Amino acid sequence: MRFLFIFLDGVGLGEADARANPFFKAKMPHLRDLLDGHMLVEGVAPLETARATLLALDANLGVPGLPQSATGQATLLTGKNTPQLVGEHYGPKPHQPVRELIAQGSVFSVMASHGKRAALLNAYPDGYFEHINSGLRMYSAIPLAVTQAGIQLKTAQDLHAGDAISADFTGKGWREHFKDNGAVIYNPHAAGVHLARLAFQYDFAFFEYWLSDFAGHKQDMPNAVEQLATFDGVLGGLLENWEDEQGLILVTSDHGNMENLDTRRHTDNPVPGLVIGAPDLRHTFCRDLHDLAGVAPAILRLFDLPEKA
Ligand SMILES: [Zn+2]
Repeated sequence: MRFLFIFLDGVGLGEADARANPFFKAKMPHLRDLLDGHMLVEGVAPLETARATLLALDANLGVPGLPQSATGQATLLTGKNTPQLVGEHYGPKPHQPVRELIAQGSVFSVMASHGKRAALLNAYPDGYFEHINSGLRMYSAIPLAVTQAGIQLKTAQDLHAGDAISADFTGKGWREHFKDNGAVIYNPHAAGVHLARLAFQYDFAFFEYWLSDFAGHKQDMPNAVEQLATFDGVLGGLLENWEDEQGLILVTSDHGNMENLDTRRHTDNPVPGLVIGAPDLRHTFCRDLHDLAGVAPAILRLFDLPEKA
């Protein structure tokens, strides 16, 4: 079994409104093909197509206030309703109560303790590790869960060797921000091919994309549309090279944001649960999946692993 988790921060299912919602504005031919001509907007889910199932997942989890990253991501990773357990939506970085829940176990630690090969595919620059080690920077929920599981984060060296992915998929941002000419630049399609190739080296591969939440907070429509066009190109390369019978791809999020650029805050919209792969695998995965807390148990069920960490 292969599982590729593509986490897009701050992506909800919003109104079909080209003025506020970049998902309605951006050209996304591969996504539209996958969804039988539909766009990734509210009212489309639940949808079943030849290669994909689209669900609308609740990110509010019965807790008042707008969903936040630390509690949302911790819920996706642990299967525990984290905002309910800590009494609030909290973020962006985890505070002590969220850190403790992650330390009790996550999908990464269950995979690792059962001998599954699990990885976070993102590359982190040298400066990131320096800031973590000196206490200047705290882990966000995803790298925290990975390191707690005893899995190494990928480095610049991994990126240079073609064993990791830059946060923007293509490596362009890595070169621009870190002035690192060792980073290979991929066009979006090639980045998707690369992503498929890397994911097949693991049982469970995770990729975290956070620029979407950033564009939402900045209310930056041109940037949001450009990001989605890039993502669509990545999806094209990925889908051409993904073996549906061998595993699933999940594209999901922690909370809404980018789908409504009328506000710079998060939204209470449901998030997409876009599941790609063979129908029988999708049906197993999507059973009882309604909200963020259902994701980790669904992944573990697919691998016949205990659903509790
Ligand atoms: Zn945010």
